[in-house]
This record gives sequence, structure tokens and C-alpha cells, in this order.
Amino acid sequence: MSFSTIIGQDEAIHLIRKALARNRVPHAYLFTGPEGIGKKLTALTLAKALNCLVTSDDACETCKSCYKINKGCHPDVEIIEAEGQFIKIDQIRELQKQVGYKPFEGRKKVSILNNAERLNLEAANALLKTLEEPPPDTVFILVSSSPGALLPTIVSRCQLIRFSPLGLQRTEQFLVEKGVATGPKAHLLAALSEGRPGKALNMDIDKILSLREQILELMDLMIPDGDQRTDPQHTLPDSGIKVLPGKIEEFTRDRDQTEELLDFLLVFYRDLLLLSEQGDPGFLANQDLISLLERYKTRLSSQKILKICRDIYQTKVNLQHNANLQLALEDLFLKIMKT
Ligand SMILES: [Zn+2]
Repeated sequence: MSFSTIIGQDEAIHLIRKALARNRVPHAYLFTGPEGIGKKLTALTLAKALNCLVTSDDACETCKSCYKINKGCHPDVEIIEAEGQFIKIDQIRELQKQVGYKPFEGRKKVSILNNAERLNLEAANALLKTLEEPPPDTVFILVSSSPGALLPTIVSRCQLIRFSPLGLQRTEQFLVEKGVATGPKAHLLAALSEGRPGKALNMDIDKILSLREQILELMDLMIPDGDQRTDPQHTLPDSGIKVLPGKIEEFTRDRDQTEELLDFLLVFYRDLLLLSEQGDPGFLANQDLISLLERYKTRLSSQKILKICRDIYQTKVNLQHNANLQLALEDLFLKIMKT
């Protein structure tokens, strides 16, 4: 992948290429931004550009050096990932040993620390020492979607490059061009990935559509119809209360699926809000569900939909802090049903 194939990060790429062209690449970069938008890909492309035998400000993708980096077997380019939960001190000690040597066959030694926020304190302090006195011909690229979790002293030693999510349209276009999906499917993937092509590529659209079917069944239980809503005796649909725990259990068998469920719920209620505020249906994530959405729309006010979106978002945050899956979802669904 040369820089030209990385989409939607023009500003970041411009800064990096300018540094390459002037031969003024800093000894440490910090690439930040949400997951799945090309930070690691750009780090690898920079590693190739720094060592390419054909060009000096891009990756040619054909020379021996680019080939080796793509295969993960270039002796001067290393990607460090967390072992278990953390990047540990032994990994940083090994890195320090490696960067102590001159490049074996390239121009620069490049160390990419992916998910750098996972450096534990000991490892972070050791890395800081290296960043304070960087060995010559070495470039460190720290990649992180949570830079707030890094030591401020590390951040201050790095040149910061920000990456941003793409617009939905651009992501959709990318998915169509890649042959991943077309029409409403591409639209839904773009919306669910929140404009992050890397994330969209990792999603299985068929699995998502079948998950959506299950969720829609659940929705039918959760959103009472108009008659029940006006009757004070029926603030909660009985059928929903009875089957809810069992249904939720199906969703909580794996954590990833739970996340997908919450992402989908958010997108679904955003669609409802869009329609209820008379927005342009062209922006709906679930364009193929417009008649169903129109029906649901009449049952909830915008204010209530907003409250539900906030509840879903809060559940996502709670789960990131390791809340119990089943309890968190039961709580959320009860809130939705009562809204
Ligand atoms: Zn090359």
C-alpha cells in the first residue's frame, strides 16, 4: 500500500510526506485516532518509504525492501504488539537492544508500537529513556486510539499526527470499490463502522444481517404498540418481560456480539430520530427498513428516542469498564421498554 491508497487521511499523509521529502522525519511519531481508520497501515507505509530502494517519499511496493516489510521479515522494521493485556518491559528491553545496532540493510530502523496505550508503567518508563536519547537512524511510531492513557512525558517526545474517521459516503464508496458490498448493505456497513473502513472490512455483513433480524424481533417486544402505550395498565408489554432474559442470553454468549448489538441499536434509534425529525431518508443507515422505521417512529417521541440513545451509549461505556454483560443488557432493555 503506497500512501495514495490510504483513503481519507490527506492531512496526516501530507505532513508525513512533507517530512520525508525534506529528510526531516522526527525520531518519534504518535499516530492517534479511532481504530480502523488506517493508522497502522500508514505506519507500515512510512516504514517502507523510509527504506524503499526506489523512492524516498513513498513505498514502491515492488523493491526487495518493500516486499520484505510486507512479508514481515525485514530485519530493520519491527511491529510490537501487546503480549496479553500489556506491552511489557522485556519487549522494550529487546527493542532497546535492537535499536542499539545500526540498520542491517535499510536506511532506518523503524519500530512500530501498536496500541501503545498498552505499555505498562515499567515498559513506558523504559521506552521514555530511549525516546529521550534516541539512537541515530531510528524512527519510533507509536500508534494509539487512546493517547490519554499514555504517559504525558512520552507524548511530549513524539510528533503528534491525528487521524480522523471518514465520512459515511466515502466509506461506502470505498466498500463498493473494494467489492465488499453494494447498495443498502454497503450503506449499513459504513454507518455501523462509523466511517472507519478498517472496521467495516472486518465486519461480516451476512452475520450482521442475521443479527439484525434477531434484534428486530426483540424490538417488537420492546417498543409497545400505540394502544398499549395509551393504556396506563400496560406501560410494559408482558410478553417482552417474560422472554427478555432468555433473548438476552443469546446475545451475551460472546462480548463481540454484544458490542455489535449495541452498535446496531444505536444506529437503529438514530435512524428513528432522523425520521422523527423529518430528516433526509437518504441518510438512513437502514435504508431497506424504511417502512418498518416509519411504523416505529409513530410510537416514540424524539425526546424519548434521545433518552434511549443516551442509555445505549452509557451501556457501551459500562461494558468497556467490564460490567456484567447479562445484567447490563437486561437493565438497558428494561429502560428502553419503560421509556
Ligand atoms: Zn520499495
